[in-house]
Amino acid sequence: MSAHDQIRAMLDQLMGTSRNGEEEKLSIKFDDPRVCKSFLLGCCPHEILASTRMDLGDCVKMHNLALKADYEIASPGKDYFYDLDALEQLSIFVAEADRKTEQARKRLAETQEELSTEVSGKADKVHELGEKIGEALARAEQLGAEGLVDESMKLMEEIDALRKQKSEAESDYRSSIPAATYQQQKLRVCDVCCAYLGIHDNDRRLADHFGGKLHLGFIKIRETLKEFQEIAEERRRKRRDHMRLARLDEEEKTRRRERELRDKERSERKRSNSPSRDKSAGRDDRDRRRGSDHDRKKRSRRSKSRSRSPRDRDHKRSHKDKKRSRSKERRDRSRSKERRSKHSD
Ligand SMILES: [Zn+2]
Ligand SMILES: [Zn+2]
Repeated sequence: MSAHDQIRAMLDQLMGTSRNGEEEKLSIKFDDPRVCKSFLLGCCPHEILASTRMDLGDCVKMHNLALKADYEIASPGKDYFYDLDALEQLSIFVAEADRKTEQARKRLAETQEELSTEVSGKADKVHELGEKIGEALARAEQLGAEGLVDESMKLMEEIDALRKQKSEAESDYRSSIPAATYQQQKLRVCDVCCAYLGIHDNDRRLADHFGGKLHLGFIKIRETLKEFQEIAEERRRKRRDHMRLARLDEEEKTRRRERELRDKERSERKRSNSPSRDKSAGRDDRDRRRGSDHDRKKRSRRSKSRSRSPRDRDHKRSHKDKKRSRSKERRDRSRSKERRSKHSD
């Protein structure tokens, strides 16, 4: 990249697509399906692993720093759910990487001279200590570069202790196999980036691996995938909770409706036991048929149950009537007496 291109890219990154004024704005927006959403989130493996041994070449989707800047400006106030796009891409990528690791392991098991369980346990110990040293060394160098000298020095002391352990483990391993076998490079596959690590790799080489772009890139991809899986799981959990609450709410509403209906029926029953003297339209017929009048005070209560059809009510009444026919007659009689006395007032 020329100095000019570098400055251009830097400005794009800082200012987004509007840097060159309206007329030069990109015709494409960051939410366009052609734009790589993983790139907007800074986790596209094509970018992370670029110029490593596992360089994937160009991404099929568009990578653009200015669009990334636009997204970064727009995203705080709104969830675009791009983590879901990235989740899909990273899941596929990581599954493929794990498959390759498994394959490489199988290949090693087939090609490398088989050791007894005891000896291979000893070899594993050397590998593990070597990897620990490599990781710690890479970390110490990183801390040093960041100016955290004390932390870096402290880590170097730990590394010294690990080195002692490793040389003990090495002599233990060496003493348990023939010299020729010991000379052979015994390989192991890195769980993270599926690169081969040798039992005789020196600290420097291991530090370069664990602090290298490939291994760190894989760590970043795997951690991002995990983070997005957690976000997706959290979203699913919230949705489940939301649906559960909505269901409970619906059930409560249904119960309330049923309760109201029951209450209505109950008061309806009460009312039909004490017929009203309501003269309002549509009710006269029924009242006449019933041949009874109601106390005016009861009219207000009566009106609440209008929603039910007269037929419905009559139907209900018909079998209830049998039970209360006698008491009704009695009541009617006493009521008409009452009325007569009222009329005479
Ligand atoms: Zn991409
Ligand atoms: Zn690795």
